[in-house]
Amino acid sequence: MTIASDAVGRNFCGPHKKDMCHICGMDFRMTNELAEIRAGLRPEPTKLQKLAEERTILQRGISFMRGPAGVPPVMKANYDFHVQQLAKVEKEIEELTKAESDRKELEEATAKSRAKYASQDADTRR
Ligand SMILES: [Zn+2]
Repeated sequence: MTIASDAVGRNFCGPHKKDMCHICGMDFRMTNELAEIRAGLRPEPTKLQKLAEERTILQRGISFMRGPAGVPPVMKANYDFHVQQLAKVEKEIEELTKAESDRKELEEATAKSRAKYASQDADTRR
């Protein structure tokens, strides 16, 4: 399977030139987003936007590992790590959202990152 790249450093599947392709089983959306930020095509996320995204990722990891029968022993260390990290992120968020405008920014960033991962889930299930 070939991978194509553009001048900005974004990657695409070779045959279809798509950033996410079900036929080739490739998904470059996350790394392409970083490439666009590096190239200045997208604004660098603010501290709060980064924290909101990190929180979403950690929450998703935690709910993934916490299955119907609880956390499988093999995932225990990873799970505990996620829980600790989430507590740190929550604390940082709390310190940075004293003002109403910051809380609004956090709310928007949280909604955006949740929507982003929800759409990735939908794509992966297809
Ligand atoms: Zn493809």
